Amino acid sequence: MASATLEKLRAGVRDVPDFPKKGIVFKDITPILSDPALFHASIDLFLERCRGKKIDKIVGIDARGFLFGSTVAYELGIGFVPIRKRGKLPYKTEIAKYSLEYGTAEMEVHVDAMMAGDQVVMVDDLLATGGTSAAAAALIRKVGGKLLEAQFLIELEFLSGRKQIEPTPVISFLKY
Ligand code: AMP
Repeated sequence: MASATLEKLRAGVRDVPDFPKKGIVFKDITPILSDPALFHASIDLFLERCRGKKIDKIVGIDARGFLFGSTVAYELGIGFVPIRKRGKLPYKTEIAKYSLEYGTAEMEVHVDAMMAGDQVVMVDDLLATGGTSAAAAALIRKVGGKLLEAQFLIELEFLSGRKQIEPTPVISFLKY
């Protein structure tokens, strides 16, 4: 994608200091979602990375990963699987724990969300410490999927989150 488009996307990310708590600079992607050209361009970034790969499912991470991931799945004509924070999925689930700055949290996926051997690409808006994505990667494997690649619109490189996911390839489009 042209670097001018990437710069427009970067300009569409709004920094919100001290949200959800003091010291965190929240990368707000809602200005991208609400601008048709930017939303389109963001989806195209994921699509370009997916073309030519044999992908059975896109997995999106609660909650902004659903917005990008489900649109990408729709465009590719393949299925979408949500990985959710614990307590939201109604059927039988597999659960993975992960560390937060304070304490732990849990993510869930339905046990029958994919077929054994399904080739999967994971999509989220942002890679920070990588704890969420590492838990999601573990869940994908638990329910029989093969994680081909993890894709993020934004990567906070200084947090080194990709180390939690590698050697699975990690792709991000806007690096900070
Ligand atoms: P982590 O597990 O630390 O990689 O956090 C990743 C998850 O938390 C993603 O689903 C992001 O949407 C969210 N997140 C973490 N840090 C930020 C941030 N600075 N701005 C926006 N979202 C964030």
